Amino acid sequence: MRLIFLGTGTSFGVPQIGCRCPTCTSADPRDRRTRTGALIETQGKRLLIDTPPELRLQLVAAGVDHIDAVLFTHAHADHVHGIDDLRALSVRQGVMLPAYGSRGTMAELASKFPYIFDPSIVVPAGTSKPELAAHVLEPGKATAIAGVPVLPLSLPHGDHEVFGYRIGAAAYLTDVKTIPGDVVAALAGLDVLVLNALLSRPHPLHLSVPEAVAAAQRVGARRTFFTHLTHENTHAALAAKLPPGIAPAFDGLVIDLPGA
Ligand SMILES: [Zn+2]
Ligand SMILES: [Zn+2]
Ligand SMILES: [Zn+2]
Repeated sequence: MRLIFLGTGTSFGVPQIGCRCPTCTSADPRDRRTRTGALIETQGKRLLIDTPPELRLQLVAAGVDHIDAVLFTHAHADHVHGIDDLRALSVRQGVMLPAYGSRGTMAELASKFPYIFDPSIVVPAGTSKPELAAHVLEPGKATAIAGVPVLPLSLPHGDHEVFGYRIGAAAYLTDVKTIPGDVVAALAGLDVLVLNALLSRPHPLHLSVPEAVAAAQRVGARRTFFTHLTHENTHAALAAKLPPGIAPAFDGLVIDLPGA
């Protein structure tokens, strides 16, 4: 099983437009953070998590020529505004791509992108749109997606709900403010935890870096990777501040896990 970080940046992206801070002007390629998304490869299938604004560039960089399903964490702009780039895949693959999320997320996507989700809207002959088949997941109920068991987990993101996903010994949780006790229990025995970590100071919607460290220690995965990172820290500076077993992710990072 393999986890590929496509993007690891917060909603502004890094470098942030107009910013001349040390991270935004860094020469370290790990300090260029596109908006947050990931890919899971397991059992011969490929699951995409979110469709951030740089999706085309991310999939080209990762050499991806097909996917089997899309999992949405929530419908905030930084996680979904690359959705039109799925058109290249649905045209290439000649299929409806299955798309999954919470009831609220799928409803929000349908209202944001009616040209994709409203079947009564037909594109002119000779043109195309992303062909997606929407499916609603129930939190806490494991579901086979492209044959892969996926456990959706409901987490608070301010007054918004996000879905985290556990797939085998990996869990991907982004845009989380706290991890409720029932979710901590559902994350027992993880090899890899992915968690959002924003700033050193508290934020109303996101775990701060110190809160994310505490949450990671509560979950107790063998390895934890932080994502949704800001320009507050360079990769090297953040890596130096984190305890053993916790590391910042970066765009293009590939993590191999035991098993197919
Ligand atoms: Zn976000
Ligand atoms: Zn900056
Ligand atoms: Zn969000």
